[in-house]
Amino acid sequence: MSTQQNPRLPFGGDHEAAVGAVDPIEWIRVSSVALPLATPISDAKVFTGRQRPMTEVAMLFVELRTRDGAEGIGFSYSKRAGGPAQYAHLKEIAHELLGEDSSDIGRVYDKLLWAGASVGRAGVATQAIAAIDIALWDLKAKRAALPLAKLLGAYRNSVRTYNTSGGFLHSSLEEVTANATQSLENGIGGIKIKVGHPDSARDLARVAAVREAIGADVPLMVDANQQWDRATAMRVGRALEDFDLTWIEEPLDAYDAAGHARLTAALVTPVASGEMLTSVAEHCTLIDADAVDILQPDAPRIGGITPFLRLATLAHHHGLALAPHFAMQIHLHLAAAYPTETWAEHFEWLDPLFTQRLETRDGRMLVPNRPGLGIELSEQARRWTVDSFELDAVTSTAA
Ligand SMILES: [Mg+2]
Repeated sequence: MSTQQNPRLPFGGDHEAAVGAVDPIEWIRVSSVALPLATPISDAKVFTGRQRPMTEVAMLFVELRTRDGAEGIGFSYSKRAGGPAQYAHLKEIAHELLGEDSSDIGRVYDKLLWAGASVGRAGVATQAIAAIDIALWDLKAKRAALPLAKLLGAYRNSVRTYNTSGGFLHSSLEEVTANATQSLENGIGGIKIKVGHPDSARDLARVAAVREAIGADVPLMVDANQQWDRATAMRVGRALEDFDLTWIEEPLDAYDAAGHARLTAALVTPVASGEMLTSVAEHCTLIDADAVDILQPDAPRIGGITPFLRLATLAHHHGLALAPHFAMQIHLHLAAAYPTETWAEHFEWLDPLFTQRLETRDGRMLVPNRPGLGIELSEQARRWTVDSFELDAVTSTAA
């Protein structure tokens, strides 16, 4: 048993041996991948002229390997602008990881935060760190030979799931109802459709038609993508009460906590928001204002799994339901580890990036019985890689 002091630990000698071996990170690969979308995507932000239709998703992948051969993979992403900036941030700070103990996720997270402290603790900088943080959690679960949900402490082995990708505003009503029917046949439990059209009558007509098509018992949600003002949200929200919606998502600007609070107090239908927020601190403005019934954090957007877990504790303490946004490959595990019943958002967009598919059955998405997140990058993802770099502690050079 070694008695030599390890400078990385606040203790050494026998105690170091007692807590287990240090397994330093030796190799890192960061990849920027452009994921093309089959159809240009439009939600209410396009119809109000604030954004253009989306044609691709900028993915940021991090792959890690330790001295003992443990491996992890994580990702972050950006829709429209921001992907190159996330990649550039990791190009500057990823070397900070080399030699760090892969188990010490909290300390490593803080080190990365401080490396880029000048550009803040929210947004692009922490979204870049998220890809590393998620890879470290994946690695830790793989080392334990457990699905991530089990490592975190799962409450369930499957999560209610609803489809979003079939209900965008660029799709005709006929396409939306056909997509909804297909989703339900595929074992998905709920249907979300986009609203926020400048003509609210068209929103109400689409909701009525989809409710008619799927029947009264299927959970139905709507998502206005922040495009209503307070008066419109109240007026349309009241009109929507007739449709027994599971929630109304992003009725208002994501940063209008007071407006959300008024709406939440006025409506019977639950109000959901949070996907656009980029830190735990921003989510706290919603929690503190009692602004929503359902919180919708996005782990890559708020800086990774480490901050997500802190936020989940706060959300549960305040009695909120949780329905994480997008990235079902990550959020399925996090939703399974939330104390009360949650939702995972079904999007097939990221499927081509991975060799595995998530299973849906009886309205639920099944936590995969594979270690870690349970994902591996596909050959197609390699072909879509636009730039990448590697760091190797053994050679101490960029390969
Ligand atoms: Mg949304």
